[in-house]
Amino acid sequence: MSDLSKLRELVALSCRLLGKLNLTKEPSGHVSARIPGEDKILIKARGPDESGLRFVTARDIITVDFAGKKVAGDDGLESPQEVFIHTWLYKTRPDVQCVVHVHPLTVVLFTICNKPLQPLYGAYDPSGLRLLVDGLATYPRSVTVSDEKLGEEFAQAMGNKQACLMRGHGITSAGPNVEEATLTAIKLNDAAVINYQASLLGNPQPISQEDIDVMVGKSRGRSQGVHVASGWRYYRKLLDED
Ligand SMILES: [Zn+2]
Repeated sequence: MSDLSKLRELVALSCRLLGKLNLTKEPSGHVSARIPGEDKILIKARGPDESGLRFVTARDIITVDFAGKKVAGDDGLESPQEVFIHTWLYKTRPDVQCVVHVHPLTVVLFTICNKPLQPLYGAYDPSGLRLLVDGLATYPRSVTVSDEKLGEEFAQAMGNKQACLMRGHGITSAGPNVEEATLTAIKLNDAAVINYQASLLGNPQPISQEDIDVMVGKSRGRSQGVHVASGWRYYRKLLDED
């Protein structure tokens, strides 16, 4: 299998995983990956023959240029309306190799209520804590990011962050590979679920700064790659695709 075919399979797997975990509904949302050395990306398509994320296969992943135009893929599959979320992040951030955009219900609740996600846990999930401590971007508008101007505006709002909360809409995560960007979306959703459930139960208290410093320090560096690999293995098995 060529490297490009492998990348296409990986993007499809990420879609199926996000669908299985209910991070998005129906056919909403898409995952993309930069094609190395080219101004093109692989992206989950929309259109009359589209699949919901849970059921995506390599066939659903089309090739699109940096203007958002489809350059390869089956008939009946088109660029997503919000392809500009992806193209603008690739154009403005050379570090980004994968972009995930989904509509997770619990995170959307926080964007609607202007409630911050608090660092409520340490050892439970150190990389989830690091995500909150490093800070999340916010895109204050609730429109579909469906043209170049909005794509540019969105990329500016997201800056160099790993993830962006989009008001009354969803989230976008970006990373150096498909595995990491996908896990960031999952961990952001987990943080929102715990914040939400803790607030229902009582009066959630952030963990101490001392414990934040210890746990964030531990989750950086070499162990970060190990945790991404083991997290990804777990979710592959969850899909029964090991
Ligand atoms: Zn969207």
